[in-house]
Amino acid sequence: MGRIDILGVGFDNVDMAEAVARAESMLEGGSHYIVTPNSEIVYDCLTNEGLREIINGADMVIPDGAGVVKASRILETPLKEKVAGVELAENLLGVLARRGASLYLLGAKPGIAERAAEKMKTLAPGLMIAGVRDGYFKEDSEAVEAVRAAAPDVVYVCLGSPRQEQFIAAHLEEMGCHIAIGLGGSLDVFAGEAKRAPKIFIKLGLEWFYRLLKQPSRLGRMMRLPKFLREVKREKKRRDKEAKR
Ligand code: UDP
Repeated sequence: MGRIDILGVGFDNVDMAEAVARAESMLEGGSHYIVTPNSEIVYDCLTNEGLREIINGADMVIPDGAGVVKASRILETPLKEKVAGVELAENLLGVLARRGASLYLLGAKPGIAERAAEKMKTLAPGLMIAGVRDGYFKEDSEAVEAVRAAAPDVVYVCLGSPRQEQFIAAHLEEMGCHIAIGLGGSLDVFAGEAKRAPKIFIKLGLEWFYRLLKQPSRLGRMMRLPKFLREVKREKKRRDKEAKR
């Protein structure tokens, strides 16, 4: 199935269940990577061609943001739903436990990944954690070696964007896993360090607003959202013109 193009980034039109099923099939063999861009990252891709290529080269690109879903509707090529990376990460835990596949957690400040691992084991009893490591290493090779030695099936790479996508693209084969997924601040959420927005905010598409209230320093990066939507509307006009020709 073709991807849905949002300003040059192709998204897979999958709902959560389909995303989980596709990820599960990736466990069968080979090495794959999954990315979870939100509108800020799509906006960055307008000026960062390298990042855009990495994202479009992924085996699955899921829309991790209300802004991306809104953009798809403006462009009249609607995506089914927002598939939050952190929720995909959680839903995969049960799959991994059932299949006896192991998971490595890479990223966040020292101590966080350990706590995230404990939490994950309570969410998915029997889950095998192959290892954990914080995301503040000097050389990539230190982290790559640690992952390789632990030989996990899946790696959650939580270094923030665009670092995590670049890390995955550069080291996927060396890591030797079946799946690497870029998951931003997810380990902080599992560890209870960062709270997700109350459900009502998520439902109204206002999770970004909640995060801004909690962490006003995000304002700078969040200013990309209105710019992103402006670009999307411009793109819609361009396409309409093209269609009339
Ligand atoms: N991080 C990291 N290494 C770094 C910089 C950041 O492991 O060198 C972690 C950081 O501790 C946090 C995550 O990457 O856990 C990024 O979180 P953020 O909420 O900014 O991610 P995003 O909004 O991109 O999902």
